[in-house]
Amino acid sequence: MTADRWAQELRPYGLLVVAPETWEEDERALILRAVQRMAQALGGAEGMQRALGNVRLEKRKEGGGGLYAFWPRPPWMRILIGAPILHQQPEWLGEVAVVHELAHAWDARTANIAARVLGRPGRIVRELVRFVGEEPGPTWYGSGFSGLRRTLRAAGEQWAETVAAYLYPEYIAHLSSCPAEQEWPQRVGLAEHPRPGLGIRHRIYVEGRFGEIRLLTTNGDPSASLTE
Ligand SMILES: [Zn+2]
Repeated sequence: MTADRWAQELRPYGLLVVAPETWEEDERALILRAVQRMAQALGGAEGMQRALGNVRLEKRKEGGGGLYAFWPRPPWMRILIGAPILHQQPEWLGEVAVVHELAHAWDARTANIAARVLGRPGRIVRELVRFVGEEPGPTWYGSGFSGLRRTLRAAGEQWAETVAAYLYPEYIAHLSSCPAEQEWPQRVGLAEHPRPGLGIRHRIYVEGRFGEIRLLTTNGDPSASLTE
């Protein structure tokens, strides 16, 4: 597939690629796989656009991924993907990083403009925190803890990692052999929640968010919007 074809293919998902010709062929294939896996759980490309709105997708040479919840030019949101995260072993770890950023964009769509400018979480993250109670997130980075404290910023990562763990069970399997990923629940006083893994409350919550978009996309009123 040519770079232009690829960029066109991503449009119905709400993704506007900057400088498609700078993405290598294997990078383009990886992005498409990640987007398709997430979209499938949202009821297709239309569901994905309904959930996330339009997002500008840009590659950078160094660094990891990042979301600008507010970017001062249309389409107002911007995801940056560092080239190193697209070249990992196993390769699908790059897909995990991509859906992680897409999950941040999804939450940002449920925040008002002031919250987005200030980088504060949206409704999805705030409701996640209330719903899961003391149950920690699936991975140390997405545990909901920053050091020994729960913070709203860490809750944003908790949501993004919950989406990643839900869409990529192989991610959790991959982390299971890592001692650091097994030790942290004890450190934060929640040893009764073995990790890494998606706790039942996290699973119910994330399934619910995917399910409500899927429902609207397959039988819903096309003018309905979840973003207010
Ligand atoms: Zn993140």
